[in-house]
Amino acid sequence: MTVNLLDLDAASLSAFFAGHGEKPFRARQVLRWVHRFGQGDFDAMTDLARSLREKLKDMAVVLPPAIVADSLAGDGTRKFLFDVGAGNAVESVFIPEDDRGTLCISTQAGCALDCSFCSTGKQGFNRNLTVAEIIGQLWQARHALGAYRHGETQGERVISNVVLMGMGEPLANLDHTVLALRLMLDDDAYGLSRRRVTVSTSGLVPAMDRLRDECPVALAVSLHAPNDRLRDELVPINRKYPLPLLLAACRRYLEKAPRDFVTFEYVMLDGVNDSDGQAEELLALTRDVPCKFNLIPFNPFPGSSYRRSPAPRIRRFAEILMAAGVVTTTRKTRGDDIDAACGQLAGQILDRTKRGTGRTFALQMARHEVAR
Ligand code: SAH
Ligand code: SF4
Repeated sequence: MTVNLLDLDAASLSAFFAGHGEKPFRARQVLRWVHRFGQGDFDAMTDLARSLREKLKDMAVVLPPAIVADSLAGDGTRKFLFDVGAGNAVESVFIPEDDRGTLCISTQAGCALDCSFCSTGKQGFNRNLTVAEIIGQLWQARHALGAYRHGETQGERVISNVVLMGMGEPLANLDHTVLALRLMLDDDAYGLSRRRVTVSTSGLVPAMDRLRDECPVALAVSLHAPNDRLRDELVPINRKYPLPLLLAACRRYLEKAPRDFVTFEYVMLDGVNDSDGQAEELLALTRDVPCKFNLIPFNPFPGSSYRRSPAPRIRRFAEILMAAGVVTTTRKTRGDDIDAACGQLAGQILDRTKRGTGRTFALQMARHEVAR
């Protein structure tokens, strides 16, 4: 059976090599070739013995998902669309800023959690991405952005930050997400610091504990409502893990988190969750959790019934949080000329109605901005 090396983190690669009678340092060499140098051709791995290269050619491949579309927005935001087979596609969005470059990647094709304001949720769940499909987005984006060509050093990386805020719920695909995260952090692979890798979750409490124990990285939690009544409606998983449980999980996470705060994401929905009173309620709710707020102006998509809160309302909401001493940022909407804005529909590559599902499968969108 052929193994896709992009599916293996360092430990699994070592085990794979050991299983074929090879020394662990060979696995490290190959890890560097594949991830640090972006090499997929075994013949080019010149410090490996010819016999090992031949063996690898027989039993392994380096196979990332193919980029099927690549668009550049006026503000430099760049969106990649990946084919993940059977008519499914996912997206990554690269957001260049003065002091960093952030890649927003996807972890699932679709999402089962059905948040009422999210187009991914509206499309339903298709499947979990494999490790190769998750890490392959980074591998491919590094190639497309010239990062491998330039042989970067730590200080000047094209992609300095990764956020798992694209399509899907990372903690509903925890096993693959953890392996991909370990590759992102491994010095022989991508060498990113834990603080520069952010997982965003809608609040899967048991999986938050597992992430904390298995691979703590920076955490963003999609809060979106100041009480259970409203959150039950906006983020249905709240019925299973209501706010007291979620906030307790945030506090537990902080015991091991690389940053000493959780970022709460809060989508601004006109007349739904954006009043002064709700800002006050939010402050009371989160009093015991060291946190920052990231307000996300709602991005409409076809068929959505919500409206974005007006800019002055968002400013006022932010002022109330900040007056209480909570650091609050508001996401800029970027890349909207290529439908790369947070929560926007990307486009459609496949109409499955012809295959009898009675539904057009639209492609996902990316939430591309940075959790600060
Ligand atoms: N499933 C994870 C990560 C992906 S979503 C999660 O829910 O956290 C990344 C962020 O985009 C989440 O905070 C999500 O609530 C938000 N989002 C989803 N749809 C949106 C929309 N239409 N406009 C603005 N933000 C949206
Ligand atoms: Fe899934 Fe996140 Fe969208 Fe909710 S907001 S449906 S968890 S992708």
